[in-house]
Amino acid sequence: MKHLASGSCLCGAVKFELDGVFEHFFLCHCSRCRKDSGSDHAANLFSSQAGIRWISGRDKVKTFQLPETRHAKSFCKDCGSALPTLQMNGALLVVPAGALDTEVDIRPDARICYASRAGWSDRLDTIRTLDGLPG
Ligand SMILES: [Zn+2]
Ligand SMILES: [Zn+2]
Repeated sequence: MKHLASGSCLCGAVKFELDGVFEHFFLCHCSRCRKDSGSDHAANLFSSQAGIRWISGRDKVKTFQLPETRHAKSFCKDCGSALPTLQMNGALLVVPAGALDTEVDIRPDARICYASRAGWSDRLDTIRTLDGLPG
């Protein structure tokens, strides 16, 4: 299988590689994704075929499954970074795009659950952009 992507957590304990293709890339604005990302949306890649190989730190990966929902999030127990999760009994691999250290050749398909978005995330394209930190 061709090498697709690799990623890691912020503290570096967890490293992984992915093989296969992503079928979807969604930015989800639902209230659950806003909570678990701490931002206005989660950015997740989805694949029903890709495999994941944990290079290091698999024992640091914790998965939170929100009871009575399909919402799940994996993260590093040490630094809290979002990490890939196998959902639907392993049939679907969900990869937080921000966890990747390599570029992907897929653009987001859509913003989803957009009706649930935070008011402050409207019209973000109209605010100024700085290449670095504010001075
Ligand atoms: Zn970590
Ligand atoms: Zn969501």
